[in-house]
Amino acid sequence: MKKIAILCSGGDVSSMNAVLKRFVDYSIAKGLIPYFVNNGYDGLIDNNIYKAGYSDVAGIISSGGTKIRSSRSKRFKDIGYRKQAISNLKDHCIDYVVVLGGDGSFRGMQEISNESESIVFGGIPSTIDNDIAGTNYCLGVDTALNGIKYAIDSIRDTASSLGRAFVVEIMGRESGYLTLVSALTSGAEMCLIPEIPHNLDAYKKRFKKEIKQGREYFIAIVSEALNNTQEVANWLEKEVNIESRVIILGHVQRGGNPTVYDRLMAFHFATHTIDTILKEHKSFVTCYNSRGFEHKKIEDVAFKKSTIKDELLKLAMEYGDSK
Ligand code: ADP
Repeated sequence: MKKIAILCSGGDVSSMNAVLKRFVDYSIAKGLIPYFVNNGYDGLIDNNIYKAGYSDVAGIISSGGTKIRSSRSKRFKDIGYRKQAISNLKDHCIDYVVVLGGDGSFRGMQEISNESESIVFGGIPSTIDNDIAGTNYCLGVDTALNGIKYAIDSIRDTASSLGRAFVVEIMGRESGYLTLVSALTSGAEMCLIPEIPHNLDAYKKRFKKEIKQGREYFIAIVSEALNNTQEVANWLEKEVNIESRVIILGHVQRGGNPTVYDRLMAFHFATHTIDTILKEHKSFVTCYNSRGFEHKKIEDVAFKKSTIKDELLKLAMEYGDSK
């Protein structure tokens, strides 16, 4: 019987556990023996590899994070440690490896798959930032967006009761995707993302006019990449003359009970990845696009820059316009 292992690498996302559950159930159904690797690439190097069964995944579907832990492994960038990882996989007679992670993890996967020859690797894009090229969706995004939505809805209650401005900083590395979608779906008055230049003078003109017309509070959603959250709050106080507060959501965005959408996507990503692994003899990343699920070469995913779709960016541009 062929053996298939799974590991989580880089930042955790909600619904990794849902993938683990489907991975074990579907592998067994397909006649494979499932293995877990604890601690990501560090676990491969340290031989933290063990056979998994139904009891390992019982009841985990509803929790965020990952039961098999994740890691950022400096050692994995060193070919000597990757050789150790390959030797450990071969000792366990592992034929296939599924990697959950972001583009960094896939660059690591590219290296080890080139070096290990016979082992086939399949990647599942997992990052709340939704910033992986080649796929429209990454696991964890919907749960993160819903978490942000709850936070902003709560903040709005206070903003409207006290007549204040709140500047909410959204985590998302270099990508403004989460910031933009959160701003649009929570009715924010201001949205600052790295993809679009912003014009504070235009905002000032609009906000002053809106205050005259009866607006009593403001919600500003700002991307962490701009590194100017406090500055924006100071600007609102000084230029728009409204008391302002900063909220940094940070890692609150990452965890929590996975949404139905993320659980379902986890199910599909795991299924498609195992089906592809059994068909293909080359390593790949599973992607989700308008054509549905498909697999792509690792280099077409891990080494390209992702962009926000034009139709969303168009909406972002409306934000700064003076009306
Ligand atoms: P993400 O996968 O979320 O983008 P990182 O960029 O931190 O997260 O990458 C996760 C891990 O992938 C790193 O800690 C490292 O172990 C591995 N990795 C990243 N880039 C490379 C590379 N060029 N070569 C080998 N391993 C890499």
